[in-house]
Amino acid sequence: LRRLTRIARISDHYQSMMRDLNVALLETSNRDPLTGLLNRRALMDMIKQEVQRASRGGESFVVAMLDVDHFKSVNDRYGHETGDRALVELAGVLCKNLREYDLCGRWGGEEFLVLLPNTQAEAAQRVMDRLVGAVRALSIAAGDGMLRLTISIGMAYHQLGETFSETLSRADQALYLAKQDGRDRVALGFPKR
Ligand code: GH3
Ligand code: MG
Ligand code: MG
Repeated sequence: LRRLTRIARISDHYQSMMRDLNVALLETSNRDPLTGLLNRRALMDMIKQEVQRASRGGESFVVAMLDVDHFKSVNDRYGHETGDRALVELAGVLCKNLREYDLCGRWGGEEFLVLLPNTQAEAAQRVMDRLVGAVRALSIAAGDGMLRLTISIGMAYHQLGETFSETLSRADQALYLAKQDGRDRVALGFPKR
């Protein structure tokens, strides 16, 4: 009986270790290692969830694609390591300037995605303007001086019946417009007809 109790205890211990490991694994598979933000996979899951919520009669949401302006020249001028550090600082500024229930992640490279649940286009515009302003105000130590960044944002309001990739591609088109229009600004995606 004593031996059995001991085996049961060991087995319990291993099971709890496996549970912790699974939690840790799930956490890392959803995070971008550089910035600690949600990664593209996690963001896609969240957007799909929001699409479903909206299709069940819930409030709609806004997605915004953010892209750092002329980031290649930051790397060219200050080196890749400083570029990485700038991305980490930028990620911090984005998070700090979002509302508690908004989501922010790294879409890839120098692109970030923000998801605003239960949000109308006008409120989203205010949040995005704040982000653009906050990044403009950021200065990052680089070499002997400071480096400044700007971002461009394309945002789209999810329309009922649209797939998640349709909403995303409207945000992407808007981002392209923001870049074309001179960068350091927000553009709103045209509604789908
Ligand atoms: P645009 O205003 O048109 O967006 O110009 P850009 O220079 O930002 O655009 P481009 O797509 O030409 O370059 C993106 C750059 O971002 C090039 C790439 O080296 C850099 N980049 C992407 N991911 C990382 C990263 O993880 N770390 C660093 N340091 N640089 C990265
Ligand atoms: Mg880019
Ligand atoms: Mg860029």
